[in-house]
Amino acid sequence: MGWGASLSKGLHMITKEVLTCEICQEPIHPHPISGWAQGHNAWPLHEGRCCDSCNNLVIAERISRIANSDVLNWGSYGSEAHHALPS
Ligand SMILES: [Zn+2]
Repeated sequence: MGWGASLSKGLHMITKEVLTCEICQEPIHPHPISGWAQGHNAWPLHEGRCCDSCNNLVIAERISRIANSDVLNWGSYGSEAHHALPS
């Protein structure tokens, strides 16, 4: 786990090291056009990095979390704040 934190701090550094997708365990290949080889942030499915195809799953998970929980939490915060206002 320790190397993950240092990796995110050093993402601006160019590295030849091939990363491994934390979700499917396949190597993350450099993007054919941009050369970007750092993959994608795998949160919330995993800590660390993931490949292009798994990134679709990550994005779907983020969307479902926003739809299912975060918006509801924000909504309850909003209603509490609303009730606290003098009417
Ligand atoms: Zn993957």
